[in-house]
Amino acid sequence: APVVRFAPSPTGYLHIGGARTALFNWLYAKAKGGTFLLRIEDTDRERNNPAAVAAILDGLRWLELDWDGEPVSQFSQADRHREVAEALLAQGAAYRCYLTPEELDQMRKAAEAEKRPFTVQSPWRDRDPADAPEGQPFAVRLKAPREGETVIEDRVQGRVVFQNKELDDLIILRSDGNPTYNLAVVVDDHDMGVTHVIRGVDHLTNAARQTQIYRGMGWDVPVWAHVPLIHGSDGAKLSKRHGAQGVEEYRAMGYLPAALRNYLVRLGWSHGDDEIMSTEDLVRWFDIDDTNKSPARFDFKKLDDLNGHYVRGAEEAELLARAKDLLPHLDFASLRALPVDPKAPPRADVALAREVEALIPSAATGADLAQRFDAVGWDKLASALPAIRERAKTIADLLAQALFLIAERPLSLDDKAKKLLDADGQANLKALLPRLEAASEWSAASLEALVRSYAEETGAKLGKVAQPLRSALTGRTVSPPVFDVMSVLGRDETLGRLSEQIR
Ligand code: GLU
Repeated sequence: APVVRFAPSPTGYLHIGGARTALFNWLYAKAKGGTFLLRIEDTDRERNNPAAVAAILDGLRWLELDWDGEPVSQFSQADRHREVAEALLAQGAAYRCYLTPEELDQMRKAAEAEKRPFTVQSPWRDRDPADAPEGQPFAVRLKAPREGETVIEDRVQGRVVFQNKELDDLIILRSDGNPTYNLAVVVDDHDMGVTHVIRGVDHLTNAARQTQIYRGMGWDVPVWAHVPLIHGSDGAKLSKRHGAQGVEEYRAMGYLPAALRNYLVRLGWSHGDDEIMSTEDLVRWFDIDDTNKSPARFDFKKLDDLNGHYVRGAEEAELLARAKDLLPHLDFASLRALPVDPKAPPRADVALAREVEALIPSAATGADLAQRFDAVGWDKLASALPAIRERAKTIADLLAQALFLIAERPLSLDDKAKKLLDADGQANLKALLPRLEAASEWSAASLEALVRSYAEETGAKLGKVAQPLRSALTGRTVSPPVFDVMSVLGRDETLGRLSEQIR
């Protein structure tokens, strides 16, 4: 059974491209009954701290990509990496290189002057180590083949050929005794029993270098699968200016993990024309061989539509739990201050922040909203869900549509809503109020019957009565069905809001 791994560097967040790499590895393990391991490539001690690692683990957990066993710390294996470098030295597959920084610099300048690619041809490769100047620091370099080719048979990229003369003798131990990245990766992958390396195509050249280390040690080379990078909507490599980079940003925008997984897997992999695939489907169908070679473009509109599908299909309990989970991450002032990208589809979390400003001006953060939901009861949100989930693309969207439940009174009406409370609207509300006060039952059906009979008696169209009701109760001209609104708000709140709008 295959053993795969995800090997993020602890950069402080789980990059969306990394998340897709993790997902491909996870799916491959699940599909083939294999093992999915996690290794934190924490060799860069300056960038490394526990919070940076925790952020990556949190992102994976939120995406529900569970790994087998304990995460391995690459740094903790440094002695083992040095041991392998010593073994390569002992076998003559590596050598001590005493080139000084000044000498290397001269070589680089010479190459530049002659406009040829810079590759290090160290004289120490063939020199007697006894010539080495006493006490001078050295790096350990791999004695890489100078002729011939290193061939990568890649499951995604196909056959990729590297000319060995273009790959210079790779440093495996730095002069300070620290192992280099390529050595560490090979030793760890070997020690962890990794059979398939699935990662970004930006590591393809490393695969050639790493192959030389495997050969030097006489170890089995893993199966390579280098997946294409993700590009932004303009075709350039995904970067900050395309918007959210970290998985936790997607979480804070109100996407669902199942939807994000479904979206990410489609970036580079497909199963016919299927757009919506459950995790069970993916596990049944996924194979790394079906990955495309060309980069995929990130498309927020597609993600939104897919997420909307998952919002409509999710269990109510999950939606509620996700809403509660999202709230503490929301800071409305920062969201409102975000620059608006005219080319990107409108962001639901920014729209939510604007709605909060209008309807609940005292709330600065999601925690303030959570308090207001605590006060009215989360069951109100639960009972509003069936009506609001139909049009919601994200959890932020759901919350925006649920704000009427916790709006500050008197409600602040938007301009369209105000217009509906013109003379006609006022007259209808005034006439309806005593009937509603007298209602013996307070359910959507009985309220609808009551308003319908009022409309019939007075010859008004139902909409002429329902629209001003909606305006007075939600401050908006778009909301869930108004009888649902009344039923969820309850008798007192409904009558209170109506009285406040009647002049
Ligand atoms: N640590 C590398 C990265 O974050 C991954 C290396 C690998 O998967 O071999 O890009």
